[in-house]
Amino acid sequence: MAEKLLNYVGGRWVAAASGETYPVVNPANGTTIGAVPKGGVVDTEAAIDAARDAFDAGPWGRSTPGERAGYLLKLADLLDANADRLAVLEVSNQGKTIKQARDGDVPFSVDNLRFFAGAARSLTAAAAGEYASTGTSFLRREPVGVVGSITPWNYPLMMAVWKLGPALAAGNTTVLKPASLTPLTTIELAKLIEKAGFPPGVVNVVTGPGSVIGEALVSSPKVDMVSLTGDTATGRKIFESAAKAIKRVHLELGGKAPFVVFEDADVDAAAKGAAAAGFVNSGQDCTQACRFLVHEDVYDGFAKKLVAETKTVRLGDPQDRKTDMGPLVSEAQREKVEKYVELGKKAGARVLIGGGRPDGKSFASGFYHEPTVFGDCDPDMRIVREEIFGPVLTLERFGSEAQAVERANDVIYGLYSSVWTRNVARAMRLSRALRFGAVEVNDHLPLVSEMPHGGYKQSGFGKDLSLHSLEEYTNLKHVYVDVTESQRKPWHYITYGDL
Ligand code: NAD
Repeated sequence: MAEKLLNYVGGRWVAAASGETYPVVNPANGTTIGAVPKGGVVDTEAAIDAARDAFDAGPWGRSTPGERAGYLLKLADLLDANADRLAVLEVSNQGKTIKQARDGDVPFSVDNLRFFAGAARSLTAAAAGEYASTGTSFLRREPVGVVGSITPWNYPLMMAVWKLGPALAAGNTTVLKPASLTPLTTIELAKLIEKAGFPPGVVNVVTGPGSVIGEALVSSPKVDMVSLTGDTATGRKIFESAAKAIKRVHLELGGKAPFVVFEDADVDAAAKGAAAAGFVNSGQDCTQACRFLVHEDVYDGFAKKLVAETKTVRLGDPQDRKTDMGPLVSEAQREKVEKYVELGKKAGARVLIGGGRPDGKSFASGFYHEPTVFGDCDPDMRIVREEIFGPVLTLERFGSEAQAVERANDVIYGLYSSVWTRNVARAMRLSRALRFGAVEVNDHLPLVSEMPHGGYKQSGFGKDLSLHSLEEYTNLKHVYVDVTESQRKPWHYITYGDL
């Protein structure tokens, strides 16, 4: 029988107020692997109250950066010690490969926490000594307060860590809502948070439908900031609700990354990079390379090599270390991908490889889809313009650098991009011309804790990772202290004449 799990609120493990639960499914075989609370407004409000108390009255609000760093380091060590178990659980719930979960997501999460432990102690605030004759100014970096953190299903553990690391380092308390489909590793993370000794209410986890819990978080006057990683449509809803309260939002949304291959590129390396960055996480990745813009002189050679690389992608049981690509996260996600494949065919794009469900008994009960490449695409096709979030890649030809830039930028998204060329000057020109939060040259994917990750345009705003992310979870306060002890007029402005 599937394990019944609980929410973590105010340092206690609790069922939903309604007593309801919902099942969690393994996408590789369709079996139920757990049941989690179907939280609602009452549960969310209890979690918000706990976070509010912990911030306003609890020790967290008065903690030092060094103390917060200590908790984050303990949590990182616990994550590290439980890496094997967490990776297996992530694979069972999400369908990503064990290679990716164990060698990528979990160790990167550990590294993220260690980075933010250090960063907690590095927040700077400048003093303005130029007022010395009359007074002095300095800046305080203060936590925002209670943060509602809402995560997606594609990187459940890692996204939870990306939200918690900077929020906690800066001194905030949080209510964390994992995606409905993939709550299991977030609940395990909460168990480790308890074990690390974080004071009650600093982190609260509530599972259940996003439209209910998410909306309750956004509309509550007790929540100071909402941070979402999710779909652009969800971001729009949250932005609209948050506007009513003028609440701070941090939105990491969808993507449709171009991968631009010039005639002077190393085409072999580009094709290898294309398959790796195109089929990562079964294509369910906001940074996924999916729009391949290839110079007409090397288009045929690149297409042939990409098809050959795609043939080597081993689709199968995600818990097997030999597997390169697992199932999609749900039947609904597979149907969405299939709808786009049909749209591509109808629009006249040519299937170069894949295009359907894989044959074979081992795939029968999971939500598998073949890695798929479309050739002869044009910029108006929906498969080229819209986020599919699956293992579907599109190839287009271009003739000039100007055309490549124009096409690459011609989508509503602006998260990730890459340029493949041996010409340094061209790489530098493109790094400026592409309107994306990241431009990579001769690679596509690397993320590091020290560098910011976030979008332009409808990929949202706000940065994850790096010191820039930490700053987003703070308020900046100006403190001015009169040092003259004389009675000044309250409206007095300091001008050069005072100095
Ligand atoms: P989603 O928008 O459906 O869900 C994201 C989260 O929002 C979930 O926890 C969900 O329950 C919640 N939610 C749903 N409706 C809500 C509402 N009305 N109010 C508040 N919360 C609500 O996204 P998903 O399908 O889980 O994830 C895939 C999407 O996430 C893709 O678009 C992908 O590009 C994006 N993504 C972006 C990044 C990034 O860094 N920019 C990273 C990962 C995923």
